[in-house]
Amino acid sequence: MNKKNTIKIFDTTLRDGEQSPGASMNIEEKLRIASQLEKLNVDVIEAGFPIASDGDFEAVKRIAKTIKGPEIAGLCRASIMDIDRAWDALKYAGERGRIHTFIATSDIHMERKLQMKPAEVLAAAVKAVKHAANYTANVEFSCEDAVRTRLDFLAEMVEAAIDAGATVVNIPDTVGYTIPFEYHNIIKHLKDNVPNIDKAVLSVHCHNDLGLAVANSLAAIQAGAGQVECTINGIGERAGNCSLEEIVMAMRTRHDIMPYENNINTEHIYAASRMLSTITGIVVQPNKAIVGANAFAHEAGIHQHGMLMDKETYEIMTPESIGLNANKLILGKHSGRHAFVARLTELGYALPKEDVQKAFVRFKSLADKKKEIFDEDLDAIVADEIIRVPEVVKLIQMNVSSGSFAAPTATIELEVRGKLKKVAVIGDGPVDATFKAIKKLTRMQPRLINFSVGSITGGTDALGECTVRLEYEGHEVLGQGAHSDIIVSSAKAYINAINKALDFSQRTKIHI
Ligand SMILES: [Zn+2]
Repeated sequence: MNKKNTIKIFDTTLRDGEQSPGASMNIEEKLRIASQLEKLNVDVIEAGFPIASDGDFEAVKRIAKTIKGPEIAGLCRASIMDIDRAWDALKYAGERGRIHTFIATSDIHMERKLQMKPAEVLAAAVKAVKHAANYTANVEFSCEDAVRTRLDFLAEMVEAAIDAGATVVNIPDTVGYTIPFEYHNIIKHLKDNVPNIDKAVLSVHCHNDLGLAVANSLAAIQAGAGQVECTINGIGERAGNCSLEEIVMAMRTRHDIMPYENNINTEHIYAASRMLSTITGIVVQPNKAIVGANAFAHEAGIHQHGMLMDKETYEIMTPESIGLNANKLILGKHSGRHAFVARLTELGYALPKEDVQKAFVRFKSLADKKKEIFDEDLDAIVADEIIRVPEVVKLIQMNVSSGSFAAPTATIELEVRGKLKKVAVIGDGPVDATFKAIKKLTRMQPRLINFSVGSITGGTDALGECTVRLEYEGHEVLGQGAHSDIIVSSAKAYINAINKALDFSQRTKIHI
């Protein structure tokens, strides 16, 4: 157990989370998430893998320059080139910059992937940690696939890494294979058998392949781990990572038997979850613990009766504790700018003045068409009006005719790189005609992976939100668009995806 019983929360939404299929974010989006993580007061933000691409490098650098509270970590393999590149981005955070270097230590990874002997792996790790320690005292070392590593070798690696200068040593369950009892024993074994273990914090990083990431992380904390690596909404490779909101609320709610503290401002959890869903288009299942739409809905009659008499009969934590306001204010036609800005702030949006003005104009025009404006509508307005990539392609105007008789025809005018272009195209339906027209005007042939339409809130007057996932030059991008006309919102979503694809293709890629 570490001295003050405070468990450090290391958020890797922007690194491990971003590696999950379809979760790529651009720099602006990463910065928004990072500033929400700052509000949550996480101890460490893992901002990316700087050597992976120029885009990753820039994101880590911008976050290191901009974010003031939390430490900023950058991932790098146990190689001099990786570490140098990582520090080039991290140095802007000064002492808060953390180099996170790793190498695989399980027999299967060492033999098949690295093709190195254990002694060579140990030497490479020591060399990497020493090199990193020349830049900063803030060095984390990870034994990739630690759970499947021979325990005596794992202990040897941990001892050597600490001797070389690592102040945090991570024991990840890279493949999501362990169970709480086993993981507890691994951490306890290291605590009991590594002679210099008190000189470093033991960290845990669990994947959710068996649905045990949070349970395993808690078991490790009880065995003496002092840092948990986790992500918002539990996003991450494959089945995802340990979910930040679940582990934090478990510690808080069962403080009676788990007397550990953490520094998280839990009332920002809900906004963080929504922001990530809006940016990535990866929605949270309704029954997801803590942040799912039904997590605080007590619908069964007998529950409602109990709840009316005393909330504590069924409620183990309050919705307010995660920033979900039970008596939330629904905005409408008569809501003024003050109420509008207050609600945006509660939802986690800190917008500059001119953006507030743009969003407010859009809000007023929507309120004229629709009686009640819900939080989801506000998310859509902000996503649609404000959070935009550079608009190389802009929608000027469009008209689509369709029905059971006429051939669906889309007439669309776009501004492409500053030039106005117009075309009329026939398609298999109004959406097909629209997409074909945009492709023709932009001369791009992205592959459509997925197209979905949803109404953001109930009622026929609701905003229709469309999501388009495209593949272009090897990148998957997600576009979103909202409008009270579904066909217009599908055009906006398609154009948004195209602009993101163009933004991505300008970045140099160094895939590893
Ligand atoms: Zn991972």
